Amino acid sequence: MVERVLPKLAIIIPCYNEELCIKNTVNQLLVVLDDLVSKNKITNESYIYLVDDGSSDSTWSIIEELHNANNGRVKGTKFIRNFGNQKAIMAGLESVREIGCDCVVSIDADLQQDEWAIERFIDEYMKGSDIVLGIRNDRKTDSFFKKTTAVMFYKTMNLLGANIPMNHSDYRLVSKRTLDILELYPEKLFFLRGFFHEIGLPTAYVKFDVKQRFAGTSKFNFSSLMALALNGITSYSIIPLRFVAVLGFFMALFGFIVGLETVYEKLVFHNSPNGWATTIILMCAFGGIQLFCLGIIGEYVGQLYREVKSRPRYIKDVELR
Ligand code: UDP
Ligand code: MG
Repeated sequence: MVERVLPKLAIIIPCYNEELCIKNTVNQLLVVLDDLVSKNKITNESYIYLVDDGSSDSTWSIIEELHNANNGRVKGTKFIRNFGNQKAIMAGLESVREIGCDCVVSIDADLQQDEWAIERFIDEYMKGSDIVLGIRNDRKTDSFFKKTTAVMFYKTMNLLGANIPMNHSDYRLVSKRTLDILELYPEKLFFLRGFFHEIGLPTAYVKFDVKQRFAGTSKFNFSSLMALALNGITSYSIIPLRFVAVLGFFMALFGFIVGLETVYEKLVFHNSPNGWATTIILMCAFGGIQLFCLGIIGEYVGQLYREVKSRPRYIKDVELR
């Protein structure tokens, strides 16, 4: 068992056009921090770190205001443009590792996740877990569409061997040790949920209730969710590629048998086959399957392409410490 000392906690918040939420969220989280300090669960050096993911509204000036008003308890950085939620969380994790902390919690700017669950995260951390995953009790607040696609995504991921717990979004606590391991991973495109599962450190789960978004609208749309899902799959599993190979083998075998049968009929019965419909159906089916498989391979080639270019994950414009 690891010996834990009173931890310095960092809370990171990715923000993209959250001018309506961010002030309330930060103030509410400061209340949570004060509460935890008074219960002697974290040190009073604990702080909040906001990552402005290239917002085009007044999010950043609100963050500056909060920074000035709170004397180092509110820190933050601003990206030069929008890099996406995963990169914003990544930047938060890397920054608080640099600034210093014993553990870090990531939470959304709209405070949909129950901020009072952080206390239970800390309790699990003190008991020795390096990773504490927040698991939502239900998906009441999600639209039917989001619920169904999310379930489909998790089912697919788990079928592909990623084994990510259902109903876990990016609300989690990770220890300093986890952050050190994260630094060893050079890949640029991260699917954090998969990563934290994969490294296999002692993990605990904490259930929490989901609330309605405090203000503003969801920053995800169909295509960004789709991109997240595809990136998750291609960065965590090569099973689709194996599937393509196996499928190709059986299709080839099937083609070979049909070919043999055709030649046999021709030679023995001397009748040219009258299978116009069959031919067209087979052509379409084979064409479709081939394109689908090419598409799967293409996704992986794309993943390689982006990794090989090795561009920076994100670029900070300014930082307030
Ligand atoms: N977010 C971000 N960059 C983006 C999109 C979203 O940093 O490009 C942040 C957003 O500000 C919020 C979190 O990611 O803090 C989750 O987004 P949102 O609440 O819109 O997603 P939902 O709860 O609808 O899944
Ligand atoms: Mg939300």
